[in-house]
Amino acid sequence: MNATELSRQGYIIMDDHMHLREDGRFTDAVDMFVSAGGNCINLVNVPRDDFPVDHYYESLYANTISIGDTVRNKYGIAVLVTLGPYPLDYFRFMKAGYDPVSEMKKGIDLAIKLANEGQCNALGEVGRPHFPVEDSVESEANEILEYGMELCRDASIPIMLHTEDLSEDAYSKLVEMARKSGLRPEMVVKHHALPQDLAIDVPVRKSILASKSNVRKALAISDDFLLETDYVDDPGSWKVIPPDSVPRRVSMILQEFEDWESFASRCCMELPTEIYGNESFKAIL
Ligand SMILES: [Zn+2]
Repeated sequence: MNATELSRQGYIIMDDHMHLREDGRFTDAVDMFVSAGGNCINLVNVPRDDFPVDHYYESLYANTISIGDTVRNKYGIAVLVTLGPYPLDYFRFMKAGYDPVSEMKKGIDLAIKLANEGQCNALGEVGRPHFPVEDSVESEANEILEYGMELCRDASIPIMLHTEDLSEDAYSKLVEMARKSGLRPEMVVKHHALPQDLAIDVPVRKSILASKSNVRKALAISDDFLLETDYVDDPGSWKVIPPDSVPRRVSMILQEFEDWESFASRCCMELPTEIYGNESFKAIL
């Protein structure tokens, strides 16, 4: 059994967090993903310093949607689109003399509008810078995040978080924030979760980097996770990990783990459909 065979049987082999650029490896990266047995990409917009600050999210989202269309048409795989203001956009707006909070909230409004029009499957990656920042910046980041959660509740879409590594306490606070916003915490996905986070008993979904060591550590705890590469499509590197890593790791798990059937039904079927909805996978289901 391998990823290609599993996808033939109607399972979802999804990279839950991938970036693509038309000036990156682009379809060469998708070729690698598909050849290894992948059949679904959650395409997340990638910060583009080459796009003007003015009307930034209009151009960024249009670009991501068009990349998604290209991949869907060329490969017939499912491509989910995740749009939203990246936490570090805050500093770019500030330097350019804009009000970051208002610009980023407008960015959320636009992502939600596109979700309501069926062009966006999730809000993300949104949240907080992954490194320590001044209290004022952190509190504004939380204000933007809470706003995003409220709008996700109204649009019934999940939210994909980019944050610092989370302690048990920090996870609990996010669950609280989601509940306060009226968003089910099961609709919150922590991108770049650590394998050890699986031992933390919260309803927030955990998406972990599909490296060999991560996957082995994770499976020693639970099979309740999604896999991602956070591939950024810079032709000069393979960061964060190469675009074929998810299907390769799925194949590894199918070969190495006795309980692979439970992994397949959880990670490659139940979790993706519970979070993103069956509709999002209609191209392959
Ligand atoms: Zn990312």
